[in-house]
Amino acid sequence: MSFWEKNSFLDYQYVIIGGGILGLSAACTIKEKTPDASVLVLERGIFPAGASTKNAGFACFGSLSEIISDFGRIGTDETVSLVEKRWKGINILRRRLGDEKIGLLNYGGYELVDESRTGNLLKIEFVNDKLKDIFGTEVYKLKNEKIKEFGFNDSKIKALVYSEFESQIDTGMMMNSLTDYAVSKGIRILTGCNAERISEKENHVRVIANDSLSGEKIFFSAKKLYVCSNAFTKKILPEINVKPGRGQVLITKPVKDLKFKGVFHYEEGYYYFRNFGERIILGGGRNHFLKEEESTEFVKNDKIITDLNEKLQNIIIPGIKYEVDYTWTGIMAFTENKLPLTENISDRITCIISCNGMGIALSSYIAESLLK
Ligand SMILES: Cc1cc2nc3c(=O)[nH]c(=O)nc-3n(C[C@H](O)[C@H](O)[C@H](O)COP(=O)(O)OP(=O)(O)OC[C@H]3O[C@@H](n4cnc5c(N)ncnc54)[C@H](O)[C@@H]3O)c2cc1C
Repeated sequence: MSFWEKNSFLDYQYVIIGGGILGLSAACTIKEKTPDASVLVLERGIFPAGASTKNAGFACFGSLSEIISDFGRIGTDETVSLVEKRWKGINILRRRLGDEKIGLLNYGGYELVDESRTGNLLKIEFVNDKLKDIFGTEVYKLKNEKIKEFGFNDSKIKALVYSEFESQIDTGMMMNSLTDYAVSKGIRILTGCNAERISEKENHVRVIANDSLSGEKIFFSAKKLYVCSNAFTKKILPEINVKPGRGQVLITKPVKDLKFKGVFHYEEGYYYFRNFGERIILGGGRNHFLKEEESTEFVKNDKIITDLNEKLQNIIIPGIKYEVDYTWTGIMAFTENKLPLTENISDRITCIISCNGMGIALSSYIAESLLK
């Protein structure tokens, strides 16, 4: 390395590993609070290469059946607190970047309820009551009249639960805008830079990356390091208890006279679909292949794509001709209790991961509360 490179490119007050929505949000929060701090984000992909540019773009906080299931799993208070964090996070993101810059459209959100989950409908009032302090009004309402209007298969779908508080965003616009915002604040982002190892020294942390051009090791130095590498964290911090969860997504070509707009959940949010103009983006089905999809490999699972096509043909647009344009995969990270995880490895190293399946909502909140 030249003198200039050694002198000007390597030492920072803050280094963040991972240029997804959480890493970038953490960097932005640091710069908003301490404008003079030097902040570097290291991203191994040319684009972020995990979940943040691969998701479905739901600005959501949990469907009715997902919230009821979470009540049973982590308790009512913890679930309500998680919903509040997601809601606050969405609002921080909207405030920071502006609705136009993230392509936010408020068509609302719906959950499709089949016969096996109609029992949840009896709990709408209870859930609304628990969430009243956050939203100030009823969150979930039945809108069964929309089942036919939207063209769903009414022999399978018995109820439609509506929430006016859910929106859709354009994930690509949001990540571009967040990057632009970060750069405008003076944050340096290096892409194509894989952090291979970290080691703690007396008064700094060393982050060792590989220069793919020269094969040389590059030693970045940070006074404080945030590891925001989500599903890939075990490569750097093997002790962190997190599991990858691969998500499969398909997008159709424009469907003539598509009858619905909005974001839609099915089976506790394990299936999700939305319109993008006249196209449908549909993902999920991981719940039927949990072990196979516990992977950090970006590999298509044909069984899931077949299952998603069946959902389109039998439930979502029965009798309508459509063509799948293409498919993709993204990798999420899951903690055992599905709660986000913040772990101080030492005074200088903090690992923040696992917005699970709702990072659009949670990331900004978690980044902000971490740096309070
Ligand atoms: C298919 C799919 C659909 C989803 N749909 C939604 C949705 O509709 N709404 C919602 O709220 N959430 C959704 N999510 C979840 C959401 O995308 C994630 O919670 C969120 O993106 C997590 O952000 P992150 O920054 O923590 O992780 P990531 O986006 O995974 O970012 C981590 C980054 O770290 C980088 N990295 C890893 N290791 C290293 C290293 N050693 N050196 C340098 N860089 C490294 C990775 O390349 C990656 O870019 C979905 C996820 C998927 C996969």
